[in-house]
Amino acid sequence: MAALLPLHSHFLHHKTSDPKLSQYYLTKPPKTIKSTSLTIACIRKEEVVIIGAGIAGLSTAVSLHRLGVPSLVLEQAESLRTGGTSLTLFKNGWKVLDTMGVGDELRSQYLEIQGMVIKTEIGRELRSFTFKEEDQTQEVRAVERRRLLETLAKQLPVDSICFSSKLAKIKVDKDGETLLELSNGTRISSKVVIGCDGIRSSVAKWMGFSEPKYVGYCAFRGLADYANGQPFGPRVNYIYGKGIRAGYVPVSPTKVYWFVCFNSPSPGPKITDPLVLKNQTKELIKKWPSELQNIVDATPDDTIIRTPLVDRWLWPGFSPPASLGGAVLVGDAWHPMTPNLGQGACCALEDAVVLVQKLAPALKVGPMAIEDALRSYQNERWPRIFPMAVRANVIGAVLQLENPLVCAVRDNVLVPKLIRLGPMLEHTNFEFDPLPQTRV
Ligand SMILES: Cc1cc2nc3c(=O)[nH]c(=O)nc-3n(C[C@H](O)[C@H](O)[C@H](O)COP(=O)(O)OP(=O)(O)OC[C@H]3O[C@@H](n4cnc5c(N)ncnc54)[C@H](O)[C@@H]3O)c2cc1C
Repeated sequence: MAALLPLHSHFLHHKTSDPKLSQYYLTKPPKTIKSTSLTIACIRKEEVVIIGAGIAGLSTAVSLHRLGVPSLVLEQAESLRTGGTSLTLFKNGWKVLDTMGVGDELRSQYLEIQGMVIKTEIGRELRSFTFKEEDQTQEVRAVERRRLLETLAKQLPVDSICFSSKLAKIKVDKDGETLLELSNGTRISSKVVIGCDGIRSSVAKWMGFSEPKYVGYCAFRGLADYANGQPFGPRVNYIYGKGIRAGYVPVSPTKVYWFVCFNSPSPGPKITDPLVLKNQTKELIKKWPSELQNIVDATPDDTIIRTPLVDRWLWPGFSPPASLGGAVLVGDAWHPMTPNLGQGACCALEDAVVLVQKLAPALKVGPMAIEDALRSYQNERWPRIFPMAVRANVIGAVLQLENPLVCAVRDNVLVPKLIRLGPMLEHTNFEFDPLPQTRV
């Protein structure tokens, strides 16, 4: 990795909850040559640059690192995302975390969820399932997003992540390498650029992808905190209403994750005032049994967020390929999906490990081999993620229906008599070649 030669003597340090992570919180200013009328930024050369230090970006960097390939992660924020709530990970996600060497560290902090129960908005139980009865190998745990990111970042060498580094422009240079320009003026040329920059990905936009589409409902989410221990059994609790549905799941001995999805004709304005968010959530569920309201009340304000839900379907023949020259997409940047299957982050983890196994050997060969590897990644991943995004969308659309007659059929026939858990979780079966357990 080429070293930066900063003209400015200061590095910016940013706060983190984990002192071991302080080494990653560096922002290096660009190297510039100043003349009286012009400032020319020198180009830094890299082999692999990853845009975005979310789950996709960090898991890709960790997988590359395991195969002995260094990478530079550019993140627009000043530090790792420390807010946010939690994510439920199924056995496919856990298998990937294991091969990255972080599964057990996370497992030790989060409860294994045994099953799920579905109730109506008046508290009538419709159905319950036990995961292991359906599939002995299933593993379901919710993890705090913050902790997942910190755990992955700790696997990387010092200075692997550059914060306050927002990608502003991207193009292919005359040598076929990808040229990146950051909003602070830094210019980087890289053999491979991996776009892990989430649902509003600049890399995807540059490749010709359309904006993700709003699906007609939003989600409030929060992480309730019970300092003296939370009182819930280890199962996911779903509540189905009319045009509104909610759920909660114990994450750890002291934390409970909850969400409320509600129909809304438009995404609405961005609201950040936590009190407004809490009041709007409580208004939606005010006639429901008090248990969920109490959980919302036990939620620290700063963890409550409201997200308009979006997805993008990768229609064959219409959607651009996932790679362009030496640039490729991973995670939400490529395939934003609604959270109805709890698979967005799991798929980002899968993408990372599949991509890296193909890319690492190709880097030793040359540009043609790299492009072949990126195409092979897309060809392997597309048949898995396209149907998943469609399925998640359809399930969400059905569960958000408001018509009382349709809801009565759902509550009296569909859920109690027809649905089976096994087929609903078949998508969590995922096989891949494990990464080497000692670093190459
Ligand atoms: C309500 C809800 C519930 C969900 N629940 C689950 C669940 O239970 N299980 C599950 O598996 N998934 C779940 N998901 C999906 C999951 O959150 C996403 O799939 C996952 O976070 C995608 O990770 P990512 O790294 O691709 O993107 P992100 O997490 O969005 O990370 C992108 C990163 O790129 C950075 N970035 C963006 N633009 C730039 C730029 N120009 N320059 C530099 N950096 C940039 C961002 O700051 C960010 O850090 C849920 C999603 C929602 C909305």
